[in-house]
Amino acid sequence: MDKKVVLITGAAGFLGSHLCDRFISEGFKVIGMDNLITGNLKNIEHLFKLKDFEFYHHDVSNFVHVSGQLDYILHFASPASPIDYLKIPIQTLKVGSLGTHNLLGLAKAKNARMLIASTSEVYGDPLVHPQTEEYYGNVNPIGPRGVYDEAKRFQEAMTMAYHTYHGVETRIVRIFNTYGPRMRLNDGRVLPAFIGQALRGEDLTVFGEGAQTRSFCYVDDLVEGIYRLLFSDYPYPVNIGNPDEITIKEFAEEIIKLTGTDQKITYKPLPKDDPMQRQPNIDKAREILNWEPKVNRAEGLKITYDYFKTLTDEELYSKEH
Ligand code: NAD
Ligand code: UDP
Repeated sequence: MDKKVVLITGAAGFLGSHLCDRFISEGFKVIGMDNLITGNLKNIEHLFKLKDFEFYHHDVSNFVHVSGQLDYILHFASPASPIDYLKIPIQTLKVGSLGTHNLLGLAKAKNARMLIASTSEVYGDPLVHPQTEEYYGNVNPIGPRGVYDEAKRFQEAMTMAYHTYHGVETRIVRIFNTYGPRMRLNDGRVLPAFIGQALRGEDLTVFGEGAQTRSFCYVDDLVEGIYRLLFSDYPYPVNIGNPDEITIKEFAEEIIKLTGTDQKITYKPLPKDDPMQRQPNIDKAREILNWEPKVNRAEGLKITYDYFKTLTDEELYSKEH
């Protein structure tokens, strides 16, 4: 029997590259697509020698063409860290809207099933805690994070419309803060920021008083949840994340302990609209996918720190974002 073919957009990024690995190891033919705006080919260079992997350098906000059989599409292309989407706000809006539309059109033409990477940011600065999928969110559309949050909300709406009106098979995963090897050191997200600072011997920059919370999920757990969701028959949004919630100040203290650095915490202003609390309610994932995270923060942080330690000095001291 022919192998099933999956298109993964954002393939050279953090999550996309791990998904490519997983689908290759499950015996799929994988087409990775990326315009490299925030990704790095280094994340997938080990796949280039495989006959079941192909790479297209392409911006999915422009018409997307794939010839031949296509069974699944995983749309993960999008700037994902606050400093990335603040730097390229229009591209962020375009890839969530036009990019999603192009890929849904492709899914319809190929009769493929499509899963989109949505986010806990659809809940904005949440007034309901922990966040269930039923919560509609508290998003400032014209604030700095609006370009990302509203693109993702539009993406969900467009995906449901294709499901309802065109009968396209769709899946929506709402991803909560995920970490692991291959995060970009300078992407501004809190974990690479803190580990990079510790490795360079700089103080760790906590924004605000560090009382805001996040709940960090290790990448392998996330990939397992996504895999199960794709092959489930559930078309509505599902939260995937690790409910183990921590304040950012406590998180900085954990990184100081893990890295053994002598550095201290310094405090910087809290960015506008930075959500004060975030924790997934994962009852749906437990019930529908029989999924829950397996890797605790101590284990996941250790693996991630070991990865960052392998970076060269050039990478560690690069000012490139
Ligand atoms: P990332 O920046 O590492 O990867 C995104 C990839 O998409 C990059 O390789 C980038 O070059 C590519 N890309 C961006 N715009 C593109 C375009 N127009 N055409 C083609 N490629 C394009 O980020 P990530 O953390 O891997 O996030 C991947 C997806 O998961 C994003 O959609 C993000 O919104 C979503 N997500 C991630 C998290 C998380 O914690 N990592 C949380 C919620 C949602
Ligand atoms: N943060 C911080 N110092 C940093 C980078 C981030 O205190 O150097 C904080 C940030 O203000 C936010 C939390 O860490 O409250 C998580 O930020 P991140 O950008 O990783 O993700 P998001 O805000 O999108 O959840």
